[in-house]
Amino acid sequence: MGHHQPHALVVPYPAQGHVIPLLELSYCLADHGFKITFVQTDFNHARVIGAASAPSPEKEGLTDRIRLVSFSDGLAAGEDRNHLWKLSLAIKNAMPSRLEELIRHSNEPGEDKITCMIVDGSLGWALEVARKTGLRSAEFWPTSALTAVMIMAIPKLIQDGIVDEDGVPMKEMFQPCPGLPLMNTANLSWNCFRDAESRKKSFQRLSQNNQMRHIADVVICNSCQEIELPIFTHLPRIRPIGPILTGHRLGKPVGHFWPEDTTCIDWLDEQPTNSVIYVAFGSFTMFDQRQFQELALGLELCNRPFLWAVRPDLGAIHGGAEAYPRGFRERIGSRGRMVSWAPQQKVLAHPAVACFVSHCGWNSTLEGVRNGVPFLCWPYFTDQFLNQSYICDVWRIGLKLVPDEDGIVSKEQIKSKVEELFLDEGMKARALVLKDFAYASVRKGGTSFENVKSFVDALRS
Ligand code: UDP
Repeated sequence: MGHHQPHALVVPYPAQGHVIPLLELSYCLADHGFKITFVQTDFNHARVIGAASAPSPEKEGLTDRIRLVSFSDGLAAGEDRNHLWKLSLAIKNAMPSRLEELIRHSNEPGEDKITCMIVDGSLGWALEVARKTGLRSAEFWPTSALTAVMIMAIPKLIQDGIVDEDGVPMKEMFQPCPGLPLMNTANLSWNCFRDAESRKKSFQRLSQNNQMRHIADVVICNSCQEIELPIFTHLPRIRPIGPILTGHRLGKPVGHFWPEDTTCIDWLDEQPTNSVIYVAFGSFTMFDQRQFQELALGLELCNRPFLWAVRPDLGAIHGGAEAYPRGFRERIGSRGRMVSWAPQQKVLAHPAVACFVSHCGWNSTLEGVRNGVPFLCWPYFTDQFLNQSYICDVWRIGLKLVPDEDGIVSKEQIKSKVEELFLDEGMKARALVLKDFAYASVRKGGTSFENVKSFVDALRS
């Protein structure tokens, strides 16, 4: 160990699915004796503090080892933070100099010297800050290894004529790596935005990011060897350290942007084992009003207990608002429960939950996997289509919900796929096997457990 206590500057991409796992990784490092400075945008910092329960020192961002700090994201108040490439450009301009300042300031006498950086895989510019300030750095992908590796492979995809210089597919199918099934190029993460400009800007940003990658001393991802074996066999540079056990830090902020409605756990306690459909679409997905209502009617039609996380803006495409079909609440009564933000970790671990209607964000995917819960997949954008392929085509623990010619997933389809999933015992059995793999990897002697140790050592030395 060096002269100083190890002190990591942790920089997540400012989105919910990045802040949660990076904060949990921070707690994990704190358990290994690190001090942590966790950097967020002012906007998200305020949300995390606002959403945290019970007043406590943690609420002010002062855990014993973890310090939360925040900077402006460079956007004006009221600008749309869901506009991902604009947000990405703004932080790339606004944040590097602030990070450098923070690091240099930490070198002054009496300060806690920052000794290393952990940088989100999509923030290559932050690795440049590590290089300039002479810090060791790790790149962390809160995605599957497959998603990360496809982004790293952009130059090769262009060279092989699979996508063009703007990331637009030239071939329909290709093989991402030996041992994995053929993949549709439309499912590459940058091609999953709905408008062409976002696809192009996202591709450009990821390509630029790639140019900084060599700076990182270590590249890790929130996955485990057993669930993505072909990738780790063929591309050993990225090491899996997951599934990181998010959300199990009692009384500590784990980075949620919305307050969790924990009353639904009492409701779950009253439901029979293996009976409840859990429905949640992460932090970005939006539906137009027609689809939102069709989904509500589909859940009604299933005639089973359900718990549905209805974020305040879930039904907000085209300026709509959450509006349930007429009489919906009365008809479902206590059979269905809607909350604005669920304690998802606890929900998925609950024995009453039978299946997960999910947008297949990577965190949600891993959380379902590590609880042995089969899926109904309804991807929205970015890497969610790749994750759906893992769930349905590789692991075979879920079914796809597919929009019809009108672009709508009908209530009848929802009902029939739910029924099919409940009847398919093979699906559940495979989900339980995968759960065991996931746990084995993080237990003493497991691959992720060992990878955490070597990652921690690499940053400490
Ligand atoms: N989440 C939650 N309550 C909800 C919905 C989501 O706690 O009602 C959490 C979920 O457990 C996961 C994260 O929010 O850790 C969402 O990340 P994911 O990668 O699944 O999706 P994203 O929000 O990035 O689309």
